[in-house]
Amino acid sequence: MQKVAGSCLCGAVSYRASAEPVFVAACHCRDCQKATGAAHSINVAVPADTLRVEGQLKPFHTTGGSGEAVARLFCPECGSHVLTDAAALPGLSMVQAGTLDDARWARPSMHIWCSSAQPWDQPPADASCYPQMPQI
Ligand SMILES: [Zn+2]
Ligand SMILES: [Zn+2]
Repeated sequence: MQKVAGSCLCGAVSYRASAEPVFVAACHCRDCQKATGAAHSINVAVPADTLRVEGQLKPFHTTGGSGEAVARLFCPECGSHVLTDAAALPGLSMVQAGTLDDARWARPSMHIWCSSAQPWDQPPADASCYPQMPQI
């Protein structure tokens, strides 16, 4: 079983899901690039009602490329981006894969917003790639 459990950098916030992930998606949108400081985010989607979070997360609200609300939840102490909740994906919460205690299994099953992928960070040739946000 793939264990969805992890924490922020400082450990003030930790989480655990009792369900298996629904999908793992790498997102190359500009907002994810800005929010992560990296070339893409890696999102492990889990049913939101199976996710237990300990500690306080601070939300930052934007409108996603889909035109729907996106909340990025950060640890207010260390600034780690821990979760993303997108109105376009109701019922799901997306754990940021780098915060998992063990992320070895979290290989993205799809890459989205490939239209804004950096030229030096292209998805692998065998990956499922979508220019924007697909219907999930
Ligand atoms: Zn922290
Ligand atoms: Zn994104």
